[in-house]
Amino acid sequence: MKQIAVIGAGTMGNGIAHTFAQSGFTVKLIDRSEETLEKAILTISNNLDRMVSKGILSEDEKFKTISNIITYTDIKDGVVGCDLVVEAATENVALKMTIFNQLSQICDHDVILASNTSSISITQIAAQVVHPERVIGMHFMNPVPIMKLVEIIRGYSTSNKVTKIIMDLSVKLGKTPTEVNDYPGFVANRILMPMINESIETLYNHVAGVQEIDTVMKLGMAHPMGPLQLADFIGLDVCLSILNVMYDGFKNPKYAPCPLLVNMVMAGKLGIKSGEGFYDYSESKKAEKVSKQFN
Ligand code: NAD
Repeated sequence: MKQIAVIGAGTMGNGIAHTFAQSGFTVKLIDRSEETLEKAILTISNNLDRMVSKGILSEDEKFKTISNIITYTDIKDGVVGCDLVVEAATENVALKMTIFNQLSQICDHDVILASNTSSISITQIAAQVVHPERVIGMHFMNPVPIMKLVEIIRGYSTSNKVTKIIMDLSVKLGKTPTEVNDYPGFVANRILMPMINESIETLYNHVAGVQEIDTVMKLGMAHPMGPLQLADFIGLDVCLSILNVMYDGFKNPKYAPCPLLVNMVMAGKLGIKSGEGFYDYSESKKAEKVSKQFN
C-alpha cells in the first residue's frame, strides 16, 4: 500500500493525512473547497514545526511529510490510483452514505474503504458498497499524530483479510490498533460519551461550575483533561451527533443528550473550532494553552 486518499480535511482529516504522510505514504487530501484545504495544510505545517522544535522530526522530514500530501476538491480526481480511502468527512449519516455510494462507483473493487466515523454503523455504510467486505472502521483519536489508539471496527461483512491489512497498516503508522465489533458508539464513545454527557448534566443541574467539574475529574481521577474541556476539543456538534446515534441505536434514555448540549450546538458554540464552548478560546493564548496541555 503506497497511496492513500483522505476525504475531509477538518480536525481529523488533516491529522490522518499528516500521520500517513509522515510514515512515507503519498496522501491525496480531499475537501470541498480550496480554502479548507489551504487551512488544513497550514495546520499540518504548524504541527510539524512544533515537532521539529521539540526535536521529534528534522527539517528534512518535515519537508518530506508536506511534499507527500497533494490536495483535491473533487473526490473522483483524488481517489485515482489509491489503494485505501479513509473517509473523515462531517459526522452525518446521509453524507457518509452519499460518499460511499460514490466511492463504490468510482473505485476498483479491491480498494479498501475505511471510515473514521465516531459512531455511525460501518455495516450501514458498507450496505452502499459493492463488495461490502472491504469496508471497515478506522477510528483514529484526536489529535491523530499524537494519540496511539486506532479503534478498528469490523462491520457485519468485513473480511478477515481486510481487517488484518488495516491492523498491520495501523502498526506501520506507529499506532496500536484494537479490534472491536460494530455496535453504536463502538467501545471508545460508548464509554466516553455518557461520561461527557453526565458532566454537562452536572453543570446543567448547577451542581458545580465548568472549572470545578473538570478539576474533580483531572485531579481526582487522573484524567489528563477534564470532560468539558475534552468535549470542546472533540467538538460539541460531534458529541451531540454521537449521543444521538447511541440513543437511536439502543433506544435507551441513558444516552439522551443533555438539553444544555443541544442548546449550545444550536447556538453555534461548538468548542475550540468555533472559538467558544465550555471555555472561551477567543484569545489565541487561551486556545494555545489548551492544545499545549494535550501535547
Ligand atoms: P470537521 O467538521 O472538523 O471536518 C469535516 C470536514 O469534512 C470538513 O472540512 C468538511 O468540509 C468536509 N466535508 C464535508 N462533506 C464533504 C464532502 N462531500 N467531500 C469532502 N469533504 C467533505 O469534523 P471532524 O471532527 O474532523 O470529524 C470528521 C470525522 O471524524 C467524523 O466522522 C467524526 O465523527 C470523526 N471523529 C472525530 C473526532 C474528533 O475528536 N473531532 C475523533 C474521532 C473521529
